[in-house]
Amino acid sequence: MSTRPICSHLDQIEVTALPETIEGCEECLKIGSTWVHLRMCMTCGKIGCCDSSPNRHATAHAGESSHPIIRSAEPGEEWSWCYLDEVAFALPGVRP
Ligand SMILES: [Zn+2]
Ligand SMILES: [Zn+2]
Ligand SMILES: [Zn+2]
Repeated sequence: MSTRPICSHLDQIEVTALPETIEGCEECLKIGSTWVHLRMCMTCGKIGCCDSSPNRHATAHAGESSHPIIRSAEPGEEWSWCYLDEVAFALPGVRP
């Protein structure tokens, strides 16, 4: 087994904690659309919708901004996903 971190982009994580209140997908709210699940960009904190949502704003944001890592913004879910490594992982000790 390799001891290499599963994702090599952890240094791009700037935001780990979810906002206290999440109104919804920022882009969907602008256009009056709906979403299924919410994700948060861990580089800038932007809230976007998941790939099961019609507009897939979280993935669109990752592509536009080159911010590689999102986390779930759903209550009780703490997994993260790196678009570049295409790997899901639980954060090794979420930084305050
Ligand atoms: Zn990565
Ligand atoms: Zn959206
Ligand atoms: Zn971002």
